[in-house]
Amino acid sequence: MSDDRHLVVVGASLAGLRAVEAARTEGFEGRITLIGAERHLPYDRPPLSKAYLDKSDEGPVSTEFRAESVITDQLDVKLLLGTAAVGLDTADRIVFLADGREVRYDALVIATGAQARSLPGTADLAGVHTLRTVDDAVSVRAALDAGARTVVIGAGFIGSEVASGARKRGLVPVVIEALPTPLVRAVGQEMGAVLASLHTRNGTDLRCGVGVASIEGDGRVQRVVLEDGTVIDADLVVVGAGAIPAVEWLEGAGLTIDNGVVCDENLWTGVDGVYAAGDVARWHNGTFDRLMRLEHWTSAAEQGATAARNALKPHAPKAYSTVPYFWSDWYDVRIQFVGSPAADEIVVVENLDEDGRIVALYREGDRLAGVLTVNGQTEIMKYRGQIMKGAAFIAAVEFAEGRKVARAAKRAATVC
Ligand code: FAD
Repeated sequence: MSDDRHLVVVGASLAGLRAVEAARTEGFEGRITLIGAERHLPYDRPPLSKAYLDKSDEGPVSTEFRAESVITDQLDVKLLLGTAAVGLDTADRIVFLADGREVRYDALVIATGAQARSLPGTADLAGVHTLRTVDDAVSVRAALDAGARTVVIGAGFIGSEVASGARKRGLVPVVIEALPTPLVRAVGQEMGAVLASLHTRNGTDLRCGVGVASIEGDGRVQRVVLEDGTVIDADLVVVGAGAIPAVEWLEGAGLTIDNGVVCDENLWTGVDGVYAAGDVARWHNGTFDRLMRLEHWTSAAEQGATAARNALKPHAPKAYSTVPYFWSDWYDVRIQFVGSPAADEIVVVENLDEDGRIVALYREGDRLAGVLTVNGQTEIMKYRGQIMKGAAFIAAVEFAEGRKVARAAKRAATVC
């Protein structure tokens, strides 16, 4: 029997693309439309603050996920790019587009992600950028290539990656962080301080505990003035002040919006036919039994697939639960985190000693809740599995100590 339903996915990035791919993999034969505000084909964001900024004569790496023909011909998806959704009528099941078109749906996946938070009063000042889109990355890369005096506002992951990109070109970026310690929400106070030390070890000028008073220039940025009166000359300012879920277009649609689109464990919004996925979704994560909104690649990809599947099979939904995972690359080290940083105690098993590794275990009650590693690629997913299984904290510490001893023995054997 042919399926005459229409799946509409709003947001043509990671979660949106995974949604349409999963719909076809699940055997859906009806119509699919993928709507995106950007004029670009779906592309990958993590490289934008990493490999994309690397200096190379061949120009930046491409971060496009799929060729257009794969999406339109092989997946048989109608692409509506360069046009934002501006409204949603969930009673008549219509998505309204900025260009005046109306798209009717039977099943809808909201995958509009998040947008970078900008600083007020800087919109008309050339040289001041956020870093969320490929267009942003083009501008930042060009300025770095030109040897810009670079100021990064916010020592979060993206700001730190930009600083690292600047250092790779021999520039000395200044990173301004209003809080006394960066990354506290992501990894906690103690480990935030340890990660911050990577900046100073690598020659970046990190200044914590001071806010920005103004960003000044005559049409183009010339200086950043700090609240303590310090003036820093700048040609490039990158604002890494976090992101906010892209939900304005959903106003009045009858969905619950509270730091994202609130969903149940099946990524269902509670409104017939409407599901959400990725950075925009705040869903009930059964593994931690609480609402979470993640801005992580892995969960966005997985949620896109689950949301599409559930939107098309609402009577047999599959819950999505996960142990959050993200990574970040600075100064040629890989930082990875699994689980939750909310902890009663952090045990640091390795701390940038011998082989530049960090292993920090986060305890909540008597369980392992989270793990931070630096250069721990071979182990991080093992810890993720332990958290998923509800492993006892003591067992995780023993595991980490055992790995440390084994590595030390291997090093000693190599030296002999
Ligand atoms: P997004 O990628 O934000 O895509 C949403 C899309 O929807 C966008 O194309 C947007 O234009 C579009 N849209 C928005 N509103 C509308 C509308 N009204 N109508 C139509 N379209 C709309 N995660 C990690 O785990 N590790 C990393 O190292 C890492 N690095 C990152 C580096 C950068 C520079 C950035 C920006 C993000 C990084 N992330 C990283 C986060 C990761 O990229 C995101 O979690 C992921 O992109 C989320 O995918 P998404 O599809 O939910 O949302």
